[in-house]
Amino acid sequence: MEYEAVIGLEIHSELKTATKIFCGCATTFGAEQNTHTCPVCLGLPGVLPKVNKRVVEFAIKAGLATNCTINQYSKFDRKNYYYPDLPKNWQTSQYDLPIAEHGWVDIDVDGQRKRIRLTRIHMEEDAGKLVHSGTTIKDSATSNVDYNRTGVPLIEIVSEPDMHSAAEARAYMEKIKSILEYIDVSNCRMEEGNLRADINVSLRPVGSDKLGTRTEMKNINSFKSLEDAINYEIERQADVLDDGGKIIQETRTWNPEKGITQSMRSKEDAHDYRYMPEPDLPPIITSAEEIEAFRKSLPELPDARRERLTKEYGLSDYDAGIITSSRAMAEYFDNVIAEGVDAKAAANWIMSDLSKNLNAENLTIEQSPVDAKRLGQMIKLIDNGTISGKIAKTVFVEMWKSTDPPEKIVKDKGLVQITDTSAIEGIVDDVIANNPKAVEEYKAGKKKAIGALVGQIMKATKGKANPQMVNQLLTKKLDS
Ligand code: ADP
Ligand code: ZN
Ligand code: MG
Repeated sequence: MEYEAVIGLEIHSELKTATKIFCGCATTFGAEQNTHTCPVCLGLPGVLPKVNKRVVEFAIKAGLATNCTINQYSKFDRKNYYYPDLPKNWQTSQYDLPIAEHGWVDIDVDGQRKRIRLTRIHMEEDAGKLVHSGTTIKDSATSNVDYNRTGVPLIEIVSEPDMHSAAEARAYMEKIKSILEYIDVSNCRMEEGNLRADINVSLRPVGSDKLGTRTEMKNINSFKSLEDAINYEIERQADVLDDGGKIIQETRTWNPEKGITQSMRSKEDAHDYRYMPEPDLPPIITSAEEIEAFRKSLPELPDARRERLTKEYGLSDYDAGIITSSRAMAEYFDNVIAEGVDAKAAANWIMSDLSKNLNAENLTIEQSPVDAKRLGQMIKLIDNGTISGKIAKTVFVEMWKSTDPPEKIVKDKGLVQITDTSAIEGIVDDVIANNPKAVEEYKAGKKKAIGALVGQIMKATKGKANPQMVNQLLTKKLDS
């Protein structure tokens, strides 16, 4: 049977506030265990939480940036469950009146634009972290509970089940990450768990519009795991259904080493959590004026910036999409062209040599050994004819290894382009004299034979001859 995959994501994003959501403890990552705790986040009796205003601000901004309606009247609720990393035995979250609802973002997959609807965005506190003496809770003699993360603010962004492939789910999560980075409310460091997704996957016969039974995979924190887990789960469910079996609604874990999902527990329903209004916190009331002020404070968002780059600099929609996919890359691009160079050349260098080198060394663009200024200076040397595009590749490699400005590298390595006709002419004559066969072929009408001659000349000049000049001189001499 042919199936259609149906996918919905719940993305948890840690907000980059200095202090926790209901107390003054620091949110710093990686501190010594249980050093950032107080009676409030430890859930001791007799203390009262107080909402961090910044958290509300960041959540509203996230809602506005994803086209949500902001609820002027919103409240917190208790989600009750037991686990050692949850000292109060409830998580303070939001249930029926979340801060934001009914949004959407657009994604591009295979050149197709598609709108993914957001159900809601709500605020909640993170739980603590179990630190096992072994690798998992099962093979550990002891486990510590680290409450530093308890009470770190999160927003949970819930999508409608609008995605139908791993690629769409990835594009959606990338878009959310990009938007949160642009509005500067989360560090989005996936490897630190700042951004993680619960993935819900079900299948249904192609053509059906009824939702099938779903499974949920929790806490996926890399794009690769996201895609692999979805693809695995789609195949697993198809096999079960083809064999006449039924999908069990359950929570599964993704095992990246084995590349499979494994059953963890049957999935709980909302009523299992006995949600109830949080009596210790007042409702969050936001005026229309405040919401408008937040809207005005938002920076240019990825989609708008992409469109501007196509209009302002003539970049293709595809290139502009890549350049603006992260705020850091978009800013890098701006800084390159601030050196007064051609925007298309800047985009090409960023998307090719720079990205290739960054990927190879697993670096972010902020960590690039070649900063935007030096890349801009180098492109300028191509523009003004000091070096050829080919030599620039060598200069780029040298820049990667040192902090020297490109001018210095070009000078030190003797890479200045030869634009002096007399200097090239002698070599052209030599190459013509030494390659009678290619010359003959060319004269016999096989114009392509000139390529071999150009190659010889470039080789003799170590790539430094101005290619246009070489071509002109050669054709002039051969055609005379
Ligand atoms: P929870 O998982 O907390 O019980 P919901 O029932 O609201 O919450 O659903 C969570 C996510 O699962 C949403 O992103 C939603 O789009 C998605 N989802 C719901 N039903 C299905 C389904 N049948 N197939 C795939 N995704 C689904
Ligand atoms: Zn605290
Ligand atoms: Mg869920």
